[in-house]
Amino acid sequence: MRFLVLTFMLVSLAWFLLPPRSTVLDPPPQYRAWWAKTEACSGLVGNFDTITWRVTPDDHFYIAGRWVIGAWRTLLDHPTIYLAAKYQNSEMIVRHEMLHDLIGVPGHPPLFEQCYLTWNTWYTLGRLDYDYRYKRTQEQESTERQGPGTN
Ligand SMILES: [Zn+2]
Repeated sequence: MRFLVLTFMLVSLAWFLLPPRSTVLDPPPQYRAWWAKTEACSGLVGNFDTITWRVTPDDHFYIAGRWVIGAWRTLLDHPTIYLAAKYQNSEMIVRHEMLHDLIGVPGHPPLFEQCYLTWNTWYTLGRLDYDYRYKRTQEQESTERQGPGTN
């Protein structure tokens, strides 16, 4: 019995500490554009190329005692971003983890809201702002296309 309890504890501890089952991801070009956007909204500058990207096959994964869909970890100044496969093309999730890397310490300071990189802000302010800018650009382009003196 004591042996079983000890085994269970060791397995739990290993599960808690070991990184999730994952494979290395060669970051798609889109990620660099998202990185630039995240640097711009936060006013922070980082180094995209130091990040190791890993994708886990599951919809959620367990890391440091929590079930998540994305995670940023740094060990001896070497950052790794884990993404659940299902969310590897989700701008909000990918950029949320990028912002963690730019900030460089754990936690969620107000910068996450400023960049609309939380669920709430992404679906309210982020989208509104996006639609507004998109509409403005469309309007501007149609005015420019008409050119001066059309009327
Ligand atoms: Zn976070």
